[in-house]
Amino acid sequence: MKKTILLIIIILLLTNIYAYGITGYTTISNIALYNNAGHDSEIKDTLKMSSKVKLLQQNDEWCKVETLEGKTGWIEKYFITVPSERYVVNNTTYNINIRTSPTTTSNSVGQLKPGEKVNYIDTYHSWHIIEYNKKEYYIASWLTDIEYKQSEKIYFLYDSINIRNKASLNSKVVAQGNKSDSFEVAGEENGWYKIVLKDNSFGYVAAWLTTHDMNSYTEEYAIYKKTTDDLNIRTGPSTGYKRILTLKKGETVKTVATENGWDKIVAQNGYVGWCNNYYLKEALPLAGKVILLDPGHGAHDPGAISYSGKFEKHINLDVAWNLKELLNKAGASVYMTRTSDTYISNKERGRLADKLGADILLSIHHNSLNNSDYFGLSTYYNTINYKAPSYGYDLAEAIYLNAITINGVYRDGILDRNFEVLRETNTPAALIEIGFMSNPTEEMNIHNISFQNVMVEKIADGIVDYFLQK
Ligand SMILES: [Zn+2]
Repeated sequence: MKKTILLIIIILLLTNIYAYGITGYTTISNIALYNNAGHDSEIKDTLKMSSKVKLLQQNDEWCKVETLEGKTGWIEKYFITVPSERYVVNNTTYNINIRTSPTTTSNSVGQLKPGEKVNYIDTYHSWHIIEYNKKEYYIASWLTDIEYKQSEKIYFLYDSINIRNKASLNSKVVAQGNKSDSFEVAGEENGWYKIVLKDNSFGYVAAWLTTHDMNSYTEEYAIYKKTTDDLNIRTGPSTGYKRILTLKKGETVKTVATENGWDKIVAQNGYVGWCNNYYLKEALPLAGKVILLDPGHGAHDPGAISYSGKFEKHINLDVAWNLKELLNKAGASVYMTRTSDTYISNKERGRLADKLGADILLSIHHNSLNNSDYFGLSTYYNTINYKAPSYGYDLAEAIYLNAITINGVYRDGILDRNFEVLRETNTPAALIEIGFMSNPTEEMNIHNISFQNVMVEKIADGIVDYFLQK
C-alpha cells in the first residue's frame, strides 16, 4: 500500500509539466545546464545571468529547460525565477497596432481591439513583447495595461520598506513592511505593485524593493570564497558523496548554502557541489582590481535635463560616489574622473584610465529623449576600442544582465556605440544609461536613494562577474 502511494507521488512529481511556452530566467551568472537532473551529470552548457529559458518539465528540485539556442537540459530550480503569467490588455477605446519590431515604423501584423488581451512575454525598448498567432510581436507599452492571470504574491527584499497610498514616491506613506514580508498583488502600475494590506485596503510599493520568488537565488546572498588548497567538490555535504571534480587552489567560488562544515558552492565554470569549508577562506571578490568610475558631464555641461528640470551631471556623480563605496568594500581601488561639479573632456576621461593602469573604466550616465514615453536601462561598448574590444562588450553585458534582474527595471539593450570616452582608451570600458530622465516614472526612481542603492549593488555584482569570468 505504502509503495503504491509513493509511486503515485513520484509519478505526480515527474508529470508536473508546465504549459507550453512558460519562460524563466537564470538568477546567477555562469550556471551549469546538466544533461540530467543531478550534480554529477555531464554539463551541456553554461548559462549566463538572466538567460531566458523555456520550461519543459520539473520535479521538486530541478527544471528541464530549453535555451534560446535550442539546447535542452536541467537546471536546479533554486537558480531560476519564473515571472508571473500576465496579459497585455487594451483598455482604450481604439485599436492598437501589433508590430514586427519595437518601433512605430515597423510593419503592423494585426490590431488589439478595445478590451482584448494577449499573453505578455517581456518588455524591450519600451515595447511589450506579446504572443500573437503563436509568434512574438511588439505592442506599445504606453498604450496598454498589464494584468495578472492569477493572484500573485510578492516578497519584500529589505527592512523598513514604505507602503504608499499611490504609485508614486511623492505619495503618503500608509504602512511599512520588512524583509520577507509577503503581500498579495492586485495590480501593476508604472513599476509599482498595488498590494492588499492586512485590513484589506490597498497600498502601493515600488517594484524594485520586491521579488516574486523568495525561494530562488538572489546575488545578495552570495559569499565569495577562495580555495586554500586543491579541493574536491561532491554531490552532498560529506566525504561519503560522489566526487564531481577537483577545484584548483586559489579559485574563487560562490557559497550559496552551509551545512555541518560543508559549503554548497557554485564554481566559476558553473558546476554546483559541496566542499569541506575548512579549505575555503572568505575573499574580497575585487581585491587588487583598479577601477575608474566616470560620472558623465559636469560644470557647464549639464547632460540631460530631466522631466522636472533636474540635471544629469548631478545624479551621475551621486551614483558614482555610491558605487565607489560598494566597490571599495569589495576590495577594489576606485578612482573617479571627477569628484565634484567640474568639467573634463571625454578624451581625457578615457586616457586617464590608461594612465592609472585601471583594469576597467565605467562611465555613468542617465538617458533622455524628447518623447517621455520611453524608458529602460542600456549599456554600451565600443568596437573601435584600440585593444580587445570584446572586453568592453563583456563588461557591458555583465553589468546589464545583473541590472535588469531588478523588478521594474526594463531592458533597453547592450549596444555598440562610438562614444568618445569608450574609444579614447586602451582599458576595457563600458558606459551605462541607468534610466530615462525624460520619463516621469524613471526620473522619480533614479533620484530615489533606495532605488540607487539597489541599482549600485547590481552594477557592482556585474563588475564582480566580469572579473570572475576573465
Ligand atoms: Zn549623459
